[in-house]
Amino acid sequence: MNKIIWFRYDLRLIDNDAFSHAVKQGNTLPIFIFDKDYFKLDTSSSFHLEFIKKSIEDLEKKLQIEYGSHLNIYYGNTLEILKRIVDRFKISEIYSNKIFKNRYLTDLDLKIEEFFLTKKIKWNVFNQFGVQLNHRDRYKWSNNWNQFINTDLSLAKSNCKFIFDQKFNNFDNIKTNQININSIQDGGRSNAIKLLDSFLNSRSNNYQKEMSSPISGENSCSRLSPHITYGNISLKEIYYKTKKKMSSELSYTNKRSLIAFKSRLAWHCHFIQKLYDEPEIEYQNLNKAYDGLRENNFNEKYFLAWKKGNTGYPFIDACMRYLSKTGWINFRMRAMLVSFASYQLWLDWKKTSKHLAKLFTDYEPGIHYSQFQMQSGTTGINSIRIYNPIKQSHDQDVEGKFIKKWVPELKNVPDTLVHEPWKLTYMEQKSLNIDIGKDYPLPIVDNKSSTKLAKDKIWNIKKSENAKILSKEILEKHASLSLRR
Ligand SMILES: Cc1cc2nc3c(=O)[nH]c(=O)nc-3n(C[C@H](O)[C@H](O)[C@H](O)COP(=O)(O)OP(=O)(O)OC[C@H]3O[C@@H](n4cnc5c(N)ncnc54)[C@H](O)[C@@H]3O)c2cc1C
Repeated sequence: MNKIIWFRYDLRLIDNDAFSHAVKQGNTLPIFIFDKDYFKLDTSSSFHLEFIKKSIEDLEKKLQIEYGSHLNIYYGNTLEILKRIVDRFKISEIYSNKIFKNRYLTDLDLKIEEFFLTKKIKWNVFNQFGVQLNHRDRYKWSNNWNQFINTDLSLAKSNCKFIFDQKFNNFDNIKTNQININSIQDGGRSNAIKLLDSFLNSRSNNYQKEMSSPISGENSCSRLSPHITYGNISLKEIYYKTKKKMSSELSYTNKRSLIAFKSRLAWHCHFIQKLYDEPEIEYQNLNKAYDGLRENNFNEKYFLAWKKGNTGYPFIDACMRYLSKTGWINFRMRAMLVSFASYQLWLDWKKTSKHLAKLFTDYEPGIHYSQFQMQSGTTGINSIRIYNPIKQSHDQDVEGKFIKKWVPELKNVPDTLVHEPWKLTYMEQKSLNIDIGKDYPLPIVDNKSSTKLAKDKIWNIKKSENAKILSKEILEKHASLSLRR
């Protein structure tokens, strides 16, 4: 009987349970589907498409070299495509890894499951993350995760026969939100391995110290996130190689850095677990006490200025423009961009999160929406952290180099004033040949007063009995005890 191995967010052959089980016996049809409607969603973009294209190119090459096979690539309505190939190739079983994505894909999977049931086709689904699927026990989450991450990598070796059907390569036909890309990380497993090696062998030396600035973070962070999102490399493989590196002779700082890196791999699954347990966090406040807080006050003008990097706060604008061109920025700057939108500009995270989903090549709904809600104060269980964009600017871009590169309007402004150009006197502006308010905007809101107003509004809710009761329930459901410790 014929089988399908359906590559989805697991574009690799090493440590891919679905693949290694599928190739054990019988004829297998390896497939990848570009879902037409998925790419039209307001969270999809050419960043994602470009990264996937490179990744499947690499997967295809590896399938060919290592197994003498081809990847069958399709574009269109996923369910219709599956119906067609299931009938054509008399498929009896499907193999794939479980995906934990957005509402669109979850609903699609339900329809597919129904179709397979009616056709009596067995859908074998494997869990590639340390997410507990049944009876989540928060007291055991960390132990279970450790058990998962330390299991052996699954390797496939076979003389299995593969079926060839078709190869779609007319990528220009795929309609998605176009972004004017400057430079984007290259997809594909080969690039993931190169990044992991260079990170473990040199780039991680000062990871912990350098991750917070967008300048040093670009090189000192692992940059593995889009590869993890699309499964070019498994978390287990990253963890395994990190542990191996840690058993060698390392400096104290390097060891601390790798410990910090390893814990982030657990956070990855911890956040995906939240989305799995409560898929509504994609489009609803986690804590209902905060409903109505921002929804009716959406200022389109502020939203546009934030999106374009024209808020009048140079560091915010530099970060947004950098992200919009490269598809990546470090954690702290993501948090600052969201905090500024949600607090100082008082914009609803449900709209701002869609824009950043498009810009993050690594868009991972579980992490994305959990972080958005944490940084917007709608969980009720996290401390309220409102980033001061001026302080961050002085701390993370001391000499203003990052600002001057990404906000060239300010390139002649002295380093000491580039963080707050509105402080330039009339005479200084004249001598620098810049008109603040015309060549570069004045701040669209006053940082001090907008921060105070936001803090007061959010505290009023946080201290209410209703918010406290709901927060307790959320803590019971979502917090993982040893991760919190
Ligand atoms: C508002 C907001 C939205 C975010 N959206 C995403 C997203 O859509 N996709 C995404 O992968 N990350 C997201 N993050 C988390 C984090 O910013 C990125 O994972 C990180 O910047 C990616 O760069 P890196 O691979 O070099 O990270 P490294 O620092 O090298 O970390 C290694 C890996 O650990 C995981 N990780 C790191 N930080 C976190 C974290 N705080 N929470 C969960 N997992 C983490 C990621 O898989 C990452 O690739 C978001 C953070 C914020 C504040």
